[in-house]
Amino acid sequence: MTDHIETDVVIVGAGPVGLFAVFELGLLDIKAHLIDILPKVGGQCAELYPEKPIYDIPGYPVITGQGLVDKLLDQIKPFHPTFHLARMVESLAREPDGRWRLTSDRGDTFLCKVVVIAAGGGSFQPKRPPVPGIEDYEGTSVHYAVRRMEDFRGHDVLIVGGGDSALDWTLNLHPLAKSLTLLHRRDDFRASPDSVKKMRALVDSGAIKLKLGQVSGLKGGAGQVTHAVVKDKEGAESHVEATRILPFFGLTMKLGPVANWGINLNENLIPVDTAKFETSEPGIFAIGDINTYPGKLKLILCGFHEAALMAQAAVHIVFPEKRIVFQYTTSSSSLQKKLGVI
Ligand SMILES: Cc1cc2nc3c(=O)[nH]c(=O)nc-3n(C[C@H](O)[C@H](O)[C@H](O)COP(=O)(O)OP(=O)(O)OC[C@H]3O[C@@H](n4cnc5c(N)ncnc54)[C@H](O)[C@@H]3O)c2cc1C
Repeated sequence: MTDHIETDVVIVGAGPVGLFAVFELGLLDIKAHLIDILPKVGGQCAELYPEKPIYDIPGYPVITGQGLVDKLLDQIKPFHPTFHLARMVESLAREPDGRWRLTSDRGDTFLCKVVVIAAGGGSFQPKRPPVPGIEDYEGTSVHYAVRRMEDFRGHDVLIVGGGDSALDWTLNLHPLAKSLTLLHRRDDFRASPDSVKKMRALVDSGAIKLKLGQVSGLKGGAGQVTHAVVKDKEGAESHVEATRILPFFGLTMKLGPVANWGINLNENLIPVDTAKFETSEPGIFAIGDINTYPGKLKLILCGFHEAALMAQAAVHIVFPEKRIVFQYTTSSSSLQKKLGVI
């Protein structure tokens, strides 16, 4: 079914900078929808370093990546942002009435007056393991993410990897799977100790199998895998029954579809002015790691500053008739009402 959503602003990317943009837009009564490829919010902070301490967020001598994301979510609660996760914005085009139309890879459509691109380093893309012919099975037997758990019900599932994603999906999918094998290069896991403990208990009880080695080939045909060929560290080969394979080899960042939206780019970054953070297309702003300008620093605090100035410019597009008076949250009762604190 095609969704059709109308809103003031669509923010492409729910990383820390996209999240803070909701706050700055909200203070100016601007409603925002956020779209992110990942199934969770927080961008690099949540995906790449949730437990690492950050030391240069103003007001927080130390806060973890996920801790910052949680605080940002608290801060933007009064503005009720709508999140559309696990979908990638694929196209962006101007409508005859001047609004922007965005479409996602899930087929839903958004119409808005302003677009804020807060897409960071672009889209996180799964790393493909070096298995000959694996492309022939991608999207049918080989998947790099679990979109619907039901797609794995009744299958011989092979999960490859030793990090949190591999372990989380081992624990979540084994009750549905006909059989589940976890394959890792060595008997040492980077995932959280609690997940590793639970996985080992399942192996001990015989509910799942743990195998050490690497996938060296796939057997099957017509897009359907039947077996994976696994090589152990001595080079001995064995076959593992597998009709669904989930390799979790980490993520890389690629600019992705942003490159096709007709916006000027400079070395895969979007040049903006430093008064409004607007792109070469009026009404499209770019903030955070995705933009470039003289002196740019890829720091979260710089993205927050950019969000504030972007909002002050976007408001004139969203509400062209409105007179805007600059106010402090400490002293403005109207801002405090919006924040729900009085
Ligand atoms: C290991 C590490 C440590 C770091 N430490 C610090 C630090 O100490 N201090 C600091 O200030 N900064 C630090 N950084 C940098 C900081 O994380 C980035 O500056 C920050 O995440 C940028 O935020 P962002 O919102 O612009 O982009 P991101 O966090 O990259 O978020 C962008 C989001 O956009 C989404 N997206 C991209 N394209 C699309 C699309 N087409 N459709 C839908 N969604 C899309 C992505 O999925 C992603 O979730 C660190 C980075 C790393 C990797």
